[in-house]
Amino acid sequence: KMSIIKTETTEALIERGFEFFAKHFPNSEKPDKLGIGPGRVNLIGEHTDYNDGFVLPMALPMVTIVLGRANDSDNCCVVTACNDFDETEDSNKTEFKIPSVKPLYVGTPKWANYVKGVIACFQSIIVGFDAVILSSVPLGGGLSSSASLEVATYSFIEAITGNKTIQLVQKAKACQNAEHMFAGVPCGIMDQFISVMGIEGHALLIDCKSLQYEPVPMTESNYVFLITNSNIHHELSSSQYQLRRYQCEEASDLLNVQSLRSATMESLNKLHLNGKINDIIYKRARHVISEIERTKTAADVLKRGDYKSFGELMNASHNSLRDDFEVSCPELDQLVELARKVPGVLGSRMTGGGFGGCTVTLVDRTAVNAVVSTISSEYKGCPKFYTVSPSCGAKIVKL
Ligand code: ADP
Ligand code: MG
Repeated sequence: KMSIIKTETTEALIERGFEFFAKHFPNSEKPDKLGIGPGRVNLIGEHTDYNDGFVLPMALPMVTIVLGRANDSDNCCVVTACNDFDETEDSNKTEFKIPSVKPLYVGTPKWANYVKGVIACFQSIIVGFDAVILSSVPLGGGLSSSASLEVATYSFIEAITGNKTIQLVQKAKACQNAEHMFAGVPCGIMDQFISVMGIEGHALLIDCKSLQYEPVPMTESNYVFLITNSNIHHELSSSQYQLRRYQCEEASDLLNVQSLRSATMESLNKLHLNGKINDIIYKRARHVISEIERTKTAADVLKRGDYKSFGELMNASHNSLRDDFEVSCPELDQLVELARKVPGVLGSRMTGGGFGGCTVTLVDRTAVNAVVSTISSEYKGCPKFYTVSPSCGAKIVKL
């Protein structure tokens, strides 16, 4: 029988980190620096970040840690404990000279590109180090293990260099750049932003244009967010992501605006009626424009503690992603449908880029087990469940 996964505490993760470090670096002293970066779940505002729109994510209690110490050389040696790649045990370890770091995302092992990217995008010269990586964020599940790895690495480097980045937005941008240039993923700013800035007990309403944000307190309530990891990942995910970005650009060109953030539904409808925009581009733009509105409204209703309205907006968001933006898939649709029919569920939607990954469901605490058992008995795949509360952002620790 499926059950809710209890997240390993950060303390336990760090304790495992010390053991793992001692095993891989037996001749080194104990680690004395630590960087922590959380994963995230986006509550609403999907595919809006690269359209200069709004998003409403929260940082998760699941984190990646980078634990280690400087080694008085220009050599970096990093070992990750996460081994759910289709690679050999060997490839959990990477060793490289700092000056040799180049934006070549064909480098192997693949995960090391995220680490190298952050080194290359760091604000100052860095020193060699030995480090281990451990994580409680599921990899490739849409909860942004990649941003949590970047932000944890950046925070670790801040600790070993003693060179802390004052402007936190710069820190998020450097991590985003690392993912662009070294991992070859043209992601928006949301994941790195929330992983850096997350505030315990709050979601953040982020304006992806100005990069201003507003903490939205999640008042103590009878409701919780349940994450369901579909544990599937369709291959077309990255090509479709690229295509959606182009389609949004095409729409803003046709609408003569800098980004869909500045477009209105009236002007879009007019263009469509005049036959100046085809049905596909029309639907893509309709999703983005309506989703930006929904996200702002969702932050407002959340501030008032109106969870019922919030759930309705989540449902509308999913339907728009499914029908207009077409980035859902049968598995995510089924998870959402199953959750929605359980009494006590206020809303359910896919979260993240789509074509797999996770759903997020707003549900009365007393009904969580009913959702889990309904999905477990009717969904064909192997889902994983997590209940999550909004957690804090990156941490830089000198031990
Ligand atoms: P997501 O960010 O949704 O989890 P991505 O495909 O963007 O999915 O990022 C997953 C990739 O990030 C992994 O395949 C791996 O290369 C890298 N990664 C994330 N966390 C770790 C980790 N703890 N150790 C090694 N690599 C990691
Ligand atoms: Mg990612």
